[in-house]
Amino acid sequence: MENMRRQLLGMTIEEMKLFAAELGEKPFRGGQIFTWLHRGVTDFEEMTNLSKALREKLTAGLEAGDFSIGGCRVADVQEDRKDGTRKFLFEMETSDFVEGVFMKYGYGNSLCVSSQVGCRMGCRFCASALGGFVRNLSAGEMLGQVLAAENYVRDEGTDEDPSINHIVVMGMGEPFDNYDNLACFLRLLHDEKGRNMSYRNMTVSTSGIVPVIERFGEDFPQVNLAISLHRLTDEGRSRIMPVNRKYPLDMLLEAAERYTDKTRRRITFEYALISGENDSDEDVNLMIKRLGGMLCHVNLIPLNKVDETGFSGSGRRRAAEIAARLDRAGIPATVRRELGGEIDGACGQLRLKKK
Ligand code: SAH
Repeated sequence: MENMRRQLLGMTIEEMKLFAAELGEKPFRGGQIFTWLHRGVTDFEEMTNLSKALREKLTAGLEAGDFSIGGCRVADVQEDRKDGTRKFLFEMETSDFVEGVFMKYGYGNSLCVSSQVGCRMGCRFCASALGGFVRNLSAGEMLGQVLAAENYVRDEGTDEDPSINHIVVMGMGEPFDNYDNLACFLRLLHDEKGRNMSYRNMTVSTSGIVPVIERFGEDFPQVNLAISLHRLTDEGRSRIMPVNRKYPLDMLLEAAERYTDKTRRRITFEYALISGENDSDEDVNLMIKRLGGMLCHVNLIPLNKVDETGFSGSGRRRAAEIAARLDRAGIPATVRRELGGEIDGACGQLRLKKK
């Protein structure tokens, strides 16, 4: 099978050293290849600190199909010229497609990364749920999105700084349904011989897979955690997020409390405001009652319309009112800045247009 071939991008530095040893080279050569790859260089000829013989060996091995690079390429891009947001369609080596969004902030550039092709969570308002689940992405395929996006922006040749120094795992898929590959991806990003990205610059968003929240807090106490909450009654939440039937609110909020007790890190609760569904005064009172006193921050997202779902968003005015009420009650809340509004790059709208 095509995707069973050994992929270089997902290898840890130790695995890369073994790989170099297999080629009859000193292990440190593996470290050099690792560094080049993580800078986005995939043409072995450009790896100038390797011997000519090794470069040729690598190129020949790639051509013979002994291994592959394992990332992805940009198949399509849409750009919002007003704010510099770019939505990418990435094609994996297996011809699967996922999307990612490059966003510019005051502190640098961030990429919203996909963790799966499709998704099995089935949230009723989300475009990624529409096509069902296809497969997990490997760590190398997640890293490949960062490299491909950065290379793309660099090759555009504008005076923008293309460096991606933040990532949010909020693209297609449920990262906690693909935990091992996610963990490997985060460690690769952090590796000082690779991109050396601080764990504090990474955020992972989950729909609420409770046992994994615990594990994540132990494994990555410095990575930011976001939980997609969206409703505070079990009946209502189960209706729009089937995951709630397995991990209901009490369980989820207890896990969130344990997480903040242990890590002392503030959790972000995402709350997509859906008109007439979860944006009444009563809903706001419930938020205040259940989230008051927690080490948290509420990120209100006016729902982005996905035509097939029949839901529509609450409007920025209502969102601002709700944020003000939460703030007054002592719960820090913000309304998410809308980036990429012109290009359907806004969250929840990531979907496969190509099949
Ligand atoms: N599966 C993970 C991460 C991907 S979704 C999760 O559920 O958290 C990233 C965020 O976008 C989640 O909060 C999700 O609920 C939200 N989202 C999905 N569809 C949306 C839509 N149409 N409008 C606004 N937010 C949406």
